[in-house]
Amino acid sequence: MSFDLSARLAQQQAQHLYRQRPLLESPQGAQVIVDGKTYIAFCSNDYLGLANHPQLVSALHAGARRYGVGGGASHLVIGHSQAHHQLEEALAQLTQRPRALLFSTGYMANLAAITALVGKTDSLLHDRLNHASLLDAGILAGVRFSRYLHNDMQSLAQRLSKAQGNTLVVTDGVFSMDGDLANLPEITKLSKAHGAWCMVDDAHGLGVLGAQGGGCVEHFGLGLADVPVLVGTLGKAFGSSGAFIAGSEELIEYMIQFARPYIYTTSQSPAIACATLESLKISQAEPWRREHLKALVKQFREAILAADIPLLDSPTPIQPIIVGDSSKAMQLAAKLREQGLIVSAIRPPTVAQGSARLRITLTAAHTTAHVEQLTTALICTWQEILRES
Ligand SMILES: *Cc1c(COP(=O)(O)O)cnc(C)c1O
Repeated sequence: MSFDLSARLAQQQAQHLYRQRPLLESPQGAQVIVDGKTYIAFCSNDYLGLANHPQLVSALHAGARRYGVGGGASHLVIGHSQAHHQLEEALAQLTQRPRALLFSTGYMANLAAITALVGKTDSLLHDRLNHASLLDAGILAGVRFSRYLHNDMQSLAQRLSKAQGNTLVVTDGVFSMDGDLANLPEITKLSKAHGAWCMVDDAHGLGVLGAQGGGCVEHFGLGLADVPVLVGTLGKAFGSSGAFIAGSEELIEYMIQFARPYIYTTSQSPAIACATLESLKISQAEPWRREHLKALVKQFREAILAADIPLLDSPTPIQPIIVGDSSKAMQLAAKLREQGLIVSAIRPPTVAQGSARLRITLTAAHTTAHVEQLTTALICTWQEILRES
């Protein structure tokens, strides 16, 4: 026996699933330099256009001068700095929760929340389209888990009535590959009726939804009793890096005592926390970012729907066009790239077999002219590729 890596790599290539990393040579923004060429990019999650904001850059510099670069130790040893603490307080306030706990990545926050809360005698109910990190967390927790049909309340109710032990219902707030919102008013109602807890991973809603950018819970007006466990990430709309769990005083204390992905890792750079604090300030002081983004989403949808291109029904900056075939999705993305536009083609296993798509993301850094350039090119390229097939 040996590890046959080359056969698996060749198979991946034959199935049009081989992944490559574009090399970015500029900051994030509407315009980027990739592999030496300038493009307009429609694929980052920097929804509010803050990743390269001069005030964030200055806050990072100032943070490094004050606290240095490294976190130095885990939070429980001597890595929990004043900057981390202030950020936790600001995040609690943003989400209207008693407390928040900072993590270095959303992947880790999800691993922490789920592994600490449920184990082998419990139940975990997933929306079928949940993010990979939530699925991995369930596997690591060793919990019995079951995936209900996407946003299907009957399917969820059925599973809730069979669930045993402590039951956690977990869902993306905004689905990362489809852009639609979880039906949280119903999910939370059903969860409460069955004595289950609802956990929401709001990686793509935070900063974007709600008048204050408080995400799905602000958008739907859901309190602590509805969503006892809220996870948010800071590397998307807030243009920084890291993540958090928000909830009750008791939940956060429990995480600090029992969540291994919290305990056994070095704290994130405190300078990053300083930059994130600045980002939260800008997000609240400049609601025009959310308004402008909403207008761009509307502009994009109207143009694409008028051309009869199959666009998923998404109200968020994530706008997926379903292509179906992986090679055709790649072909479309390649042709757009020749025209100076970067759009990502998302293929299985990130999405279900036969549902390869172009995942377009809009940000507050885009202009109406950028979006018009994209829709014109998309419509033209779409027709060209369809004619060939
Ligand atoms: C991006 C993402 C994560 C992971 O967050 P990172 O901070 O990038 O590790 C978790 N959940 C969802 C839904 C995401 O889209």
